[in-house]
Amino acid sequence: MFSEKEIQKIRNQFPILKEKIYSNPLIYMDNAATTQKPLKVIQASQNYYSTMNSNIHRGLHYLSHKATLYVENVRRKIQKFIHAKYSSEIIFTKGTTESINLVASSMEGFIKKGDEIIISCIEHHSNLVPWQILCKKKNAILKIISIHESGFLKLTDFEFLISERTKIVSISHISNVLGIINPVKYIIEKAHEYGALVLIDGAQALSNLDLNVQDLNVDFYVFSAHKMYGPTGIGVLYGKKKILEKLYPYQFGGEMIKDVSFNETTYSDLPLKFEAGTPNIEGIIVWGFAIDFVKEIGISNIQSYKKKLLMYAIKCLSSIDGIQLYGISKDLSNKSGILSFNVDNLHCFDVGSILDRLGIAVRTGHLCAQPLMNFFKVSGMIRVSFSVYNTCEEIDYLLESLLKAKKMLSK
Ligand SMILES: *Cc1c(COP(=O)(O)O)cnc(C)c1O
Repeated sequence: MFSEKEIQKIRNQFPILKEKIYSNPLIYMDNAATTQKPLKVIQASQNYYSTMNSNIHRGLHYLSHKATLYVENVRRKIQKFIHAKYSSEIIFTKGTTESINLVASSMEGFIKKGDEIIISCIEHHSNLVPWQILCKKKNAILKIISIHESGFLKLTDFEFLISERTKIVSISHISNVLGIINPVKYIIEKAHEYGALVLIDGAQALSNLDLNVQDLNVDFYVFSAHKMYGPTGIGVLYGKKKILEKLYPYQFGGEMIKDVSFNETTYSDLPLKFEAGTPNIEGIIVWGFAIDFVKEIGISNIQSYKKKLLMYAIKCLSSIDGIQLYGISKDLSNKSGILSFNVDNLHCFDVGSILDRLGIAVRTGHLCAQPLMNFFKVSGMIRVSFSVYNTCEEIDYLLESLLKAKKMLSK
């Protein structure tokens, strides 16, 4: 665990934390939407444009070689970070959303009428809509795993739904609303017994747990750089080589081709087959520095510190009269640093606006998970989500501010 001095040292690496919001210090608790960026990431961006900007995989010139080398190094860095077998299994995309759309679109040819796709009711819209559209196009059926009041997936539902008709199971590793870590290893094993492929949405997981895609035996794993201290607009689709090789390309154009004539085109090998067009070169290179940042601090240190913040926040916020915390059970061992709640019958936007005025950034609304809001019979929630630079003092201030908001709005 970090000492106060170490936390201060980490905080000093994030220039934005010195910003004032309506003359209050910024308290940033919207890390599940996007994390802030450390100085080395910000500087890497400037350095890229100052010293190596050029297109990759194309030019024979010095700068193009240099940028290509850096990009391919980051590919290998990500391969090692998630323990993938081959670097060609790492496909760069715009982010989690595009990665899921890529798989859903490239799988189209393998889905027939009456086939089934299983997701759960806690999914982010990004892991719902692409499957819904695919099912509509192919007359396939979307099946939904429900949850217990505690937020845990109803595994009996899953065991009931899975069958030889199931082609894909697509589940989030960690819920962006409830912070609950789902039993994905079990789900993957069970799905494979029936010959179904499994995609895991790891958008919230990468900065939270040590990921080993080979050990999980997952077929597709997707995530975004911006939720792990890296830049926006860049992410990854990890897929098993054998499966990616069979899939149809997602987009067509430069970079993804081998030979083109007016009659025919042959495609590049992995990973370029799925990387049509000029990618976000800067984003990829800068992401490498964000991964260094995470590795320097250590995933397990980040995990245990966020857990400490979560436990402290649960203790503090529970003291508020009329507060409803979601996804809380006796067993908090499977919960990461995300806490969603409502206060009395106050509207989450009103509470969020007052917190904003006091310098606290939280997320309010349906949190990109309307079906889950329906499950809890609310139109929205207030979500706080922690990162390595948050502190218990900030949580004290959050409590104080929530009490203030409650008082103001209850008049
Ligand atoms: C943020 C998030 C997404 C979408 O990620 P983008 O970077 O916006 O594409 C998908 N799923 C979960 C669980 C998320 O938290």
